[in-house]
Amino acid sequence: MRELSLELAAPARWGEGLVSIPEGEPVVVDVRFESVHEGILASGTVDSEYTGVCGRCLTDIAEPVQVEFQELFAYPGEEAADFEVQDDHVDLETLVRDAIVLSLPFQPVCQPDCPGLDPVTGERLTSSTGNEQPETIDTRWAALQDYTSDHDDDAPRAAAENTEKS
Ligand SMILES: [Zn+2]
Repeated sequence: MRELSLELAAPARWGEGLVSIPEGEPVVVDVRFESVHEGILASGTVDSEYTGVCGRCLTDIAEPVQVEFQELFAYPGEEAADFEVQDDHVDLETLVRDAIVLSLPFQPVCQPDCPGLDPVTGERLTSSTGNEQPETIDTRWAALQDYTSDHDDDAPRAAAENTEKS
């Protein structure tokens, strides 16, 4: 059994989505190799940081990412394996890259309740202060905002309780 801690730089951009590991980003790999009957079992963790944009408001985001992996590198034999020991070496790059890329969020957000962009103006909405979470308005219903009694664009109303509709 052998343990290794490696700090590498991503050799290329990893990931094709809204967020990815940029080329040259430090990637820390803590890995343990165990000799088993069929080959070498590699298990450990990968730490890095992804960067990209929020899927709702396009703000730049960067978040740490940690993922565990475990894979058997089989000794070359009759049966083809996904990973094989080659010339007494194991190539961790594909394993580490796939583990990281699969863990990247498909729809990353800058914060869990990111309100996104205003569907009308395209402006970035700011989250309301206080404890109430802003309700993200479905764009299909946005036109109904014109019918609410407190719509900002309406002419000034008397400051009375005017919820009645005629
Ligand atoms: Zn956002």
